[in-house]
Amino acid sequence: MALFEHSDFDNHEQVAFHHDKLTGLKAIIAVHNTNLGPSLGGCRMWPYASSDEALTDVLRLSSGMSYKAAMANLPKGGGKAVIIGNPREHKSEALMQAMGRFVDSFNGRYIIAEDSGINVQDINQMASQTKYASGNKARYSVDGTQPDGNPGPSTSYGVFCGIKAAVKHLYGSDLQGKTIAIQGVGNVGLRLAKYLHQAGAHIFVSDIFEENLLIAHEEFGATIVDNKTIHSLDVDVFAPCALGGAVNENTIEAFKAKIIAGAANNQLANSTMDLALMNRRITYVPDYVLNAGGIIDIHHQTLDDSSDEKLKHQISNIGNTVVTVLEQAQEQGLPTQQVANKIAASRFG
Ligand code: NAD
Repeated sequence: MALFEHSDFDNHEQVAFHHDKLTGLKAIIAVHNTNLGPSLGGCRMWPYASSDEALTDVLRLSSGMSYKAAMANLPKGGGKAVIIGNPREHKSEALMQAMGRFVDSFNGRYIIAEDSGINVQDINQMASQTKYASGNKARYSVDGTQPDGNPGPSTSYGVFCGIKAAVKHLYGSDLQGKTIAIQGVGNVGLRLAKYLHQAGAHIFVSDIFEENLLIAHEEFGATIVDNKTIHSLDVDVFAPCALGGAVNENTIEAFKAKIIAGAANNQLANSTMDLALMNRRITYVPDYVLNAGGIIDIHHQTLDDSSDEKLKHQISNIGNTVVTVLEQAQEQGLPTQQVANKIAASRFG
């Protein structure tokens, strides 16, 4: 298992492997870049088939965090952690405490938070061993509801602000009467449906489970459509809010929406999709620019002097960032993701 020769090695500052014999913990922490500040990123617990698979994931995810934090103007760098194991079977308090000690050994160069398989309780157990744990404090809220540590509401609000800005940029108008198809109405997608409905848009929704579809239909007047064909609807915006890879070889020709903008991470199945969308005159809002509300939320919850208003203000700035990316892409004749990557990389150096 080579590291420096790995195809996803991207000048990472530090990659550490850790094994704790007593608890069986096997984990990797990758710190990609700390030029803008200590690295911040979630911890994923997953039954990786091999150490190689875990290494690939942590390398990719940690560099992605540098881009996301830089584009969100956070004084943070990019890092990520993975624990090799099944979160339903292999979790214990002792294991999380061992992970906390591993995090602590970075002396603040890496700050851990939740990701798939890791919840607030796990973070609290890690926090008993390190002060460099986040995502377990809930002080400020973007929508007036009681904050509970879930960054979903902030992510949804940021996605809404970004969609509004992209629509204004392309059509010169607000969301009143616009049609928007949301694929996946979970934590983020359902709240997004609410914001869009309140702004006067008509919503189409799909999911693999019925429960939230019915809520979207009853509360926000959404039309429920077939999940297999939602991407091909003749709407103004297609918003992927489920899994990654919504833009792929099989879907690219079918899109009729002029804008693709959603919360899902890694929406482009591969790097050629960025150019393919541009050639089809579809405006793609890079996922990590649009869904940064969550990381902004986690950052603010660590600040003693933030407030609901400050949190909301920084998240609404995602709209301005979206416009900057779209304008530069237009001026330079380049795909939007390429432009966003260049801006972010120039910030973290
Ligand atoms: P979630 O699990 O709450 O919701 C995902 C929804 O998609 C669920 O309702 C699920 O049933 C549905 N779904 C799953 N597979 C599907 C498929 N093949 N087709 C259609 N629907 C499908 O997750 P979430 O927190 O709402 O996050 C949504 C996306 O946004 C994810 O890609 C996540 O990585 C990304 N994201 C989330 C946050 C956050 O703060 N929650 C932050 C940044 C990025």
